[in-house]
Amino acid sequence: MDIEADYANAQGRTRLFDEPALFERYVELIRRAGVKVTGFLVTSFLARYGEGIRKLEREIPIEFALHSHHHNTATSGERGEIELAQKTFRDFFGKEAIGYRAPIGAISREGLGNLMDLGFRYDASVFPSIRPGKNGYWNTHMPIEPFRVTRGRDSILEFPFPALSIIRLNFGLPWIKLYGPGLSTALMRIFPPPSVIALTTHAHDLYAPHLSDGVTALEKRALLRNSERGFDILETMIGRFRAAGYEFAWMSDICDHTDSLPDLPSMPLDEWRYFLFKDFPWRQPSNTASKNTPNSPSTSA
Ligand SMILES: [Zn+2]
Repeated sequence: MDIEADYANAQGRTRLFDEPALFERYVELIRRAGVKVTGFLVTSFLARYGEGIRKLEREIPIEFALHSHHHNTATSGERGEIELAQKTFRDFFGKEAIGYRAPIGAISREGLGNLMDLGFRYDASVFPSIRPGKNGYWNTHMPIEPFRVTRGRDSILEFPFPALSIIRLNFGLPWIKLYGPGLSTALMRIFPPPSVIALTTHAHDLYAPHLSDGVTALEKRALLRNSERGFDILETMIGRFRAAGYEFAWMSDICDHTDSLPDLPSMPLDEWRYFLFKDFPWRQPSNTASKNTPNSPSTSA
């Protein structure tokens, strides 16, 4: 789960941590489902919600990783930003994070190089698919399975966002909510996802976020579709994955497992190419691209 402000919440608030009923419902679901959670934390979130994070830590099996400090796609790969996130994490948890996730998957080659320099074990940023719009990307050349990115003797594991085989449809909870659980289950059978996936949710996928201005009608529809059923759909899909033979583990366990795979694909860092629409040369740089995004795009990071 990405732990950040709810989508398009100008006050930077997250209902999951503001409303005890939602928090309890989440805790109960995770316990009942018997799964482990990795929380990708926007570390600036700790200033307001540090107590909530401590409580979550006591209530469910969770480990934490980084989701930048400012949740700004323009800076999320910069060394200073990653170091600030790691320092804030270390001050709070008394240890360092081993994993990183950039907002909307915006990890550049330089960003990955910085993660390697700083000793990160994994990155979980890449969307190996297509998404139109302002926060869009086109990365069908990227593997959908986990892979190793290498630079000389250094390397880092990359865990792409979940995508279905062949058709490369995004398959995290935001998208599953859009398709609905029935169609999602059918799609999963016909186009099985990879054997190792980081099943992705945000807090705001579980309920209807309080939307501020500046959300387009289409985004609003996507966000609010099945929003009353977010908890149920998550639990249903955990069951579907389990029925398909998946087990649930922390990302650190997944790293151990992936490291032990004999035929793990790899890619030299020099060949890393990641395309965001906002970076395309025919796009005017807009204010929104460089502004802090207090939260992630609805149906992505
Ligand atoms: Zn995010």
